[in-house]
Amino acid sequence: MKLSVLKETNEYETRVATTPDNVRLLIKLGFDVYVEIDAGLKSGYSNKDYENSGANIADRKTCLQSKEVCLVVQLPPLEDIREISSKTILLGILDPYKNKRYFDELKKQNITAITMELIPRISRAQGMDVLTSQANLAGYRSVIDAAENLNKAFPMMMTAAGRINPAKVMVIGVGVAGLQAIATAKRLGAVVSATDVRIATREQVESLGAKFIMVDNEESQNAETSGGYAKEMSEEYKKKQSQLIAETISKQDIVICTALIPGKPAPVLISEEMINTMAPGSIVVDLAVEAGGNCPLSKLGQIVIHNSVKIIGHANVPGRVAKDASALYAKNIVNFLSLFIKKDEKKIDIDWNDEIIDAVVLTHNGVLKLEEFT
Ligand code: NAD
Repeated sequence: MKLSVLKETNEYETRVATTPDNVRLLIKLGFDVYVEIDAGLKSGYSNKDYENSGANIADRKTCLQSKEVCLVVQLPPLEDIREISSKTILLGILDPYKNKRYFDELKKQNITAITMELIPRISRAQGMDVLTSQANLAGYRSVIDAAENLNKAFPMMMTAAGRINPAKVMVIGVGVAGLQAIATAKRLGAVVSATDVRIATREQVESLGAKFIMVDNEESQNAETSGGYAKEMSEEYKKKQSQLIAETISKQDIVICTALIPGKPAPVLISEEMINTMAPGSIVVDLAVEAGGNCPLSKLGQIVIHNSVKIIGHANVPGRVAKDASALYAKNIVNFLSLFIKKDEKKIDIDWNDEIIDAVVLTHNGVLKLEEFT
C-alpha cells in the first residue's frame, strides 16, 4: 500500500499532513510512505527528518500518481486533482461547504474524498477529531497573539512602584477553542469571563475558574443541537445577548471571539458601536474570521486598528503553531486509517456500514455521498 503526503499550496497553510513520528506509525500500518520535497519545512520538519523515519522524498507528480492514499491538510488545486490516480483515497480537511466547485472533478477522477472535519463527535472517534485537535491550539494561540499585541501585562503584580492590575479577558463562545483560551488566559494571570448560548457551558467555564455570563431563558435551555453544536438564536435572544455583551465589553482589555454555527456564517456579536466603547489599546481576536467573523470590522489575515482598538483576524490560527498542529492532525489521520487497514494482509478494507465512514466520505465511485452538499 502506497501513501503520499502533498506539500500544501494555500498561502496561509503552514501545516503538513504527516510528521516524521507519524510516518513511523504509517509504516507500521503497512504503508510505503512518499513525502513531497519540502512538505514539512514550514512546520519545522526537514526532508532528512522524514527520510530518517523511513519515508521516501518524492516530487509532486510522483506523490499525485499511483498511490492508494494521498494525505493533505487542505484540498489541492484543480490541476492537481486532475492528476490524482483514479480510486485514490484523498484525505484532508476538505471544507465541503466552501469547496463545492471541486466536487465534479473529484467525481470525474473517481477519487474517494474523505473530509476529516466531519468526523462525528462520538467517544470512539475522539482520537480522529481534527476539529478538536486544531481548535484547541487555535484557542491557545489566540491568547498569545492578544498578549503580544496588548500594551499591558497579564498577571497582577505587586511592586515597590505600585500595583499592576490583572488584564481582563472575555471569551465569547465556549467550545473547544474558547475553553483553551480561558485556560491559557487564566494561566497567564488574567481575570476571565466567558459567555455562550449553550447552558451546558456554564459548568465548564466555572470549573476553569472564570466567571460565566449569559442570557439565560427558555431558548438558551434548548440552544444545543443533538450533535452538541449551537443553534442559530432568535432575533429577540440576539437583542438581549447584544445588550449583555455591550455592558461587559467596555471593561475588557481583551475579547476573544470563537462563536461558530456549523455550515452557517458566524453570528455577528460585536458591533462597531461596542468596539467604540473599549479603551484605546484594547484587543479583539476574531477566531471566527474565516466564517465571516463575530465582529464585522475584522478582516481575514489582517490586524485592523479601529478607534485605537486592535482587531486581530489572523487566518489559519492553528497554522501559527504549525509544528504541534501538524503532529496532532497527523495522529488524527493515523487513528482514522487504523479503522480500516488489514495490517496482516496489507490491505485497505473500508467498512461502508461504519457510522464514522458514513459521515466523512464525500465522493466515492464517481458519486457524491453526502447529500447535504448537493
Ligand atoms: P463550535 O466551534 O461550533 O462553536 C464554538 C462555540 O461558539 C460553541 O460553544 C457554540 O455554542 C458557541 N456559539 C455559537 N453561537 C453563539 C452565539 N450566538 N453566542 C455565543 N456563543 C455562540 O464548537 P466546538 O468547539 O466545535 O464544540 C461544539 C460541541 O462539540 C461542544 O458541545 C463540545 O463540547 C462538543 N465536543 C464534543 C467532542 C466529543 O465528544 N468527541 C469533542 C469536541 C467537542
